[in-house]
Amino acid sequence: MTDSIETTERELPLVVLGEMVIMPNMTVPLQVGQGKSYRAMEQAWEADREVLLIFVAESEIESYKSGHPQQVPPVGVIARLEEFIKLPDGTVRIILEGLARAHVGTVLQIEPYYRVHCVSISDPEVQSMEIEALMETVKQQLDEFVDHLAEVPQDAVAFVHRIDRPGHLADVVTWAPAFEFEERIEMLNELDPVVRLRRAQVLLARHLELLRLRQKIQQDTKEVLDQSQREYFLREQMRVIRRELGEDDDVDDPIDELKRKIAELSAPDYVKDQATHELKRLAQQGMNSPEAGVIRTYLDWLLNLPWATEEFPEISIIQAQQVLDEDHFGLEKVKERILEYLAVRKLAGSKMRSPILCFVGPPGVGKTSLGRSIARALGRRFARTSLGGIRDEAEIRGHRRTYIGAMPGRVIQGMKTAKSRYPVYILDEIDKVGQDFRGDPTSALLEVLDPEQNNAFSDHYLEIPYDLSQVVFIATANQLEPIPGPLRDRMEIIEIGGYTEDEKLGIAQGFLVRKQREFHGLTAEQLTITGAAITKLIREYTREAGVRNLERELASLCRKVARKVASLVDAGEQSVMFTIDADDVAEYLGAERYSFGLAEEKDEVGVATGVSWSPTGGDTISIEVLPMRGKGLLQLTGQLGDVMKESAQAALSYARYRADQLGIDPNYFDEHNIHVHVPEGAVPKDGPSAGITLTTALISAMTGRAVRRDVAMTGEVTLRGKVLPIGGLKEKTLAAHRAGIKTFILPKDNAKDIAELPRKVREDLQLIPVSSMDEVLKIALVPATVTVAPTVPDIIVPRAVVPDVIMPRPGAA
Ligand code: ADP
Repeated sequence: MTDSIETTERELPLVVLGEMVIMPNMTVPLQVGQGKSYRAMEQAWEADREVLLIFVAESEIESYKSGHPQQVPPVGVIARLEEFIKLPDGTVRIILEGLARAHVGTVLQIEPYYRVHCVSISDPEVQSMEIEALMETVKQQLDEFVDHLAEVPQDAVAFVHRIDRPGHLADVVTWAPAFEFEERIEMLNELDPVVRLRRAQVLLARHLELLRLRQKIQQDTKEVLDQSQREYFLREQMRVIRRELGEDDDVDDPIDELKRKIAELSAPDYVKDQATHELKRLAQQGMNSPEAGVIRTYLDWLLNLPWATEEFPEISIIQAQQVLDEDHFGLEKVKERILEYLAVRKLAGSKMRSPILCFVGPPGVGKTSLGRSIARALGRRFARTSLGGIRDEAEIRGHRRTYIGAMPGRVIQGMKTAKSRYPVYILDEIDKVGQDFRGDPTSALLEVLDPEQNNAFSDHYLEIPYDLSQVVFIATANQLEPIPGPLRDRMEIIEIGGYTEDEKLGIAQGFLVRKQREFHGLTAEQLTITGAAITKLIREYTREAGVRNLERELASLCRKVARKVASLVDAGEQSVMFTIDADDVAEYLGAERYSFGLAEEKDEVGVATGVSWSPTGGDTISIEVLPMRGKGLLQLTGQLGDVMKESAQAALSYARYRADQLGIDPNYFDEHNIHVHVPEGAVPKDGPSAGITLTTALISAMTGRAVRRDVAMTGEVTLRGKVLPIGGLKEKTLAAHRAGIKTFILPKDNAKDIAELPRKVREDLQLIPVSSMDEVLKIALVPATVTVAPTVPDIIVPRAVVPDVIMPRPGAA
């Protein structure tokens, strides 16, 4: 329609439009306020209906209104008013059609409207293959563009395809709503139609790319939304199905469920915050993400650890005493110490840095069960963890969560089972904590036990501090020595020795039989075990410091009786009664395992009875010496340690040194080989305290004087026959007592320990402190008058080993 513009120079009323561009060939409805532009159109509507449009930024509009425009744009568009209708409601309907570009000339008039001089410009006719191709490209772009836009009428598309002039096409491109005001102005100002079209193509390409991207983003978002919507619907359906099936309980979404649990958790805020934080992470990652399992396990730990505060009734010492007496036979001194400990706790309350109790003694003497009783007396829950064999700090403190399969350390694990922040917590086998390159568990343990630090114990897995300050820790150990010094300093040591036969009988009759009977569902009428039967169990079926194996044997008896009772009841028997006496034991448990009454055996030449000590208690050992013709060699068998070997050498030297007084031919040593054997070869034996026993056996063998079987002895010996003190006297005398020994020889320096021994032991054993080997021999060797000539075989004849000197392996049944 540019053809219709004949005149090249014009004077036209000016219409100023803000932030919009009406291109040539474009028809646009318009709204204008009652200003200069309105008056310009009003005037034009009366005349030839043509106006000049210029397009300015919104910010410049004011300057036009005030009549002082700063800079009039160089290019405008001559347009024709298609409609200018004043409606009854006061508004005006205006429709304008752009006709052609025009250079804007001088302003001829400002009031009542602008009037300007302008020169219309029409695009030159251009044609080339390249332009054709360019136009085709742009049309395709437009097609694509339209595809992205909803609701573009089909005839508009057809209209674009009919356009045959590049300038026109470029102008139409700018109609696209995506174009910015500045971009349209740029297109308007470009007078070369081909350059304009190229520009249009570039801009269009950019807008298309933006559209594509936007659409992709929308698509992606939609997919995510669709997925979550899908999940939501499926979950909803599942919920309904479950409800229909009556499985309403676990209908809840796991996240909701966890949220509820966190809300209900009775714990300090920092715990809940941590749990909430992790829950958020879980929700973000989704229940099916690989991380989900790890987070859920962690949340499980947080949610199942005891965090809550509890109130406890005041400790009643009288009640505590009752509880201890109800659960344990004897142990008077130990109970006393425990009650003192509880009394101090009661008086000092939480102000006190209460020491940690540590029970030290052989297995089966009731260390753990005392711990249980203390828990019962305090009305607290009970937890227990064994520290035996721990070498790695992480076992106490846990592994960081980044480790696969990480878990909290044992202390926190124990707290979980305790289900209370205030349990009595037994740390078993504290003497068996090791140490290696993976860090020292002792330092972690120190933190656990230190009241200054343990209110914020840090477990690597948990990450947040845990308050252990309200826990009553009790440690147990078999031995005192291996416990690291700093740990030992923190504890109050209570030693519990082994039991005498009488005590064992008392424990069995007062506690173990009843316990096992109940455990096996038997009544007191159905099963009676006589004292004689129990004594037989103690003497011939067990050999231990504590009562663990005794309890096991009793359990075994009960189990066998229970089976018989059950089958008799099945057979219709009304009242079934079993009494187990000493003679019946073998029927149930098989032949005895140890022969009792070592002391009652015949006195022998070359065999002396010593006593050994190990963390599991004391035991008697027989030391045998056999001389043979030879040339002065010493042979040692029976897994003897270095110290024991040296003792044998020393014994030999002592015998040589005293040969004269002992009536041994000085040539004897050169003409004989000496074989020393300590039976039960599988058990390693060591220590200096067998010194006097070795020497006694040796001298007996050399002199042919028998050793009294009812004498046991312990003591280290010097080369000149001085007897030196030893350790573990209590367990050693108990072992001798157990074996029925009558006389016990001990070093004089140990005499002070006699008072500590159980009364029964002091009554039954004749305890003789000695300071020299001469005294030992005087007591232990049978007087010379009944001397039998020493038998000296040429070859080694294996001698029948008396069965009761075989030591059970520590801890074995
Ligand atoms: P430890 O922890 O010292 O190895 P336990 O506490 O496990 O020993 O004791 C083993 C068994 O012997 C338990 O059933 C315990 O109740 C019982 N027991 C030990 N000593 C006594 C005692 N003095 N009175 C009653 N029962 C005892």
